[in-house]
Amino acid sequence: MNGKKFNLTVDIEPDRPPLPEEVQRPFTYKGIEEGLPILFDLLDSYHFRATFFTLGETAELFPSLVSEIDRRGHEVACHTYYHRDCSKVPEQELAEDVKQATEVLQSQTGHPVVGFRFPYFRLNGSLLPRLKELGFLYDISLLEFANGCQSYERTARSAGIHLFSNTRYLDPERHMHVRFGGWMLRQKRPDEIQAIARALLQERAAVSFYIHPWEFITLPFQVNAEDHFDPKLVKENFKIVLDECLRQGMEVVTLREVLGRK
Ligand SMILES: [Zn+2]
Repeated sequence: MNGKKFNLTVDIEPDRPPLPEEVQRPFTYKGIEEGLPILFDLLDSYHFRATFFTLGETAELFPSLVSEIDRRGHEVACHTYYHRDCSKVPEQELAEDVKQATEVLQSQTGHPVVGFRFPYFRLNGSLLPRLKELGFLYDISLLEFANGCQSYERTARSAGIHLFSNTRYLDPERHMHVRFGGWMLRQKRPDEIQAIARALLQERAAVSFYIHPWEFITLPFQVNAEDHFDPKLVKENFKIVLDECLRQGMEVVTLREVLGRK
């Protein structure tokens, strides 16, 4: 081990939730039903543990899901109750939503939930003091190299909520910062993933990575071009990232563990 930390984060939600600006469609859960067992097996085969940001609504629809995540040694964290653009949800309504989600997750695991991530990485700083009251320790909704988050950061500091951020890299083709996670696994060739992972893990002391169970299956709908992807490629690319963690001696831990909690 080289003292460097790698955090795997998973969002537990319906299949590719529609973006707020897209036409809304019925939720499907093929990722939970068929993709999650693939992800669990992969993580087991590497003895890696991840942090699972779970929607309250999904946890209630699949009553044994949260206890299984917990039983396998992963961290259960909160992703709100409904998958919405929370930047547009009024303060009191949002506080109630997250309280309800927290109660569902805690009753299903039997212990406190301390981590939080907003859907779509869309922030609402009014929630941060409420998170503290509910017993949360950290939030991971910020993106690296994002501008205009100073007031969110100030509010988190005064509320006593630790902020992690989601790792991004400068994509050579798009000339923009891209999240280190599922999108690139769906879009890039294995040799590209290998090069990105090698460079990122070499240069950072801490790296976070995100993925969704629906990325391991063929989506039951194709709304836009990016909904067409090869789940076999995703699996192959994901293993390249995990192998690179091993090769570089990264310590793969949950976010709760980074903060010294078991
Ligand atoms: Zn989400």
